[in-house]
Amino acid sequence: MLIPCDVPSCANPIADDARVCAGCANGLRLALLKVGDENGLAVDLDLTLARQHRTGPGNLGRRSTETPLAYDPRASEAASVLRNTLSTWCRLLHEEIGGRLPQDDLAPMARWLSRFVEWLRRSDIGAECVDEVVSAVAQAERSVDLPAERVLAGVCEGCGTPCYARAGADRTRCRECGTEITVSEGRERLLRAAGDRLVTAAEGARSLRVLGHDVSAAAVRGYARRGRITVKQRGSANRPLYSLGDVLNAYLDSPAA
Ligand SMILES: [Zn+2]
Ligand SMILES: [Zn+2]
Repeated sequence: MLIPCDVPSCANPIADDARVCAGCANGLRLALLKVGDENGLAVDLDLTLARQHRTGPGNLGRRSTETPLAYDPRASEAASVLRNTLSTWCRLLHEEIGGRLPQDDLAPMARWLSRFVEWLRRSDIGAECVDEVVSAVAQAERSVDLPAERVLAGVCEGCGTPCYARAGADRTRCRECGTEITVSEGRERLLRAAGDRLVTAAEGARSLRVLGHDVSAAAVRGYARRGRITVKQRGSANRPLYSLGDVLNAYLDSPAA
């Protein structure tokens, strides 16, 4: 008889004697890794909240009834939900397992919990833990998703997803599969892959859009006008052709990228 995974949103059968399937256990592991990482979600949340605090209500002599548009309550909500979720599960697990509780901060709590994923898989509270932690982490990710503050790090070697890093950070982790990616190496791989392919402004823009950024053909023509890329050849209807590697390079170096 096939026993289904205990996690409510999961329909996978379980292949061993656990209560939570291996896929859900990996989901929990990845969620905890994102928070526990030294460059991870805990830092993103802190930065988002600090920035909002500066531009938040009550600054610059604004009346307290006025809320500037820049203020977004999602990040502080998501941060407190995540903190409550992790500390609740730390306490629950501590009652069952003992040992020493971690420091009461997001990253140490996540790292501590990640040591017990296999134990949780076999426990009758495991499914609930997966459900709550994974959704709290997803909510936190959405609340710090500020593309303007991010730079393209490259395409994940594990799964092909375009990855973004915080401006100034040298590494990030793929949101889909957790593979680590170094910004400089990831960008270099992209440039190598783009190579000397010749593209029109519109094709160049479309290639960049694949990476998740909305770039117009006019922006690509703007690179050419400002001398950041040069016309390599003329295509049909005498349209200028550029090297895709050059276009990508100009895009990566532009302040908006
Ligand atoms: Zn499952
Ligand atoms: Zn990946």
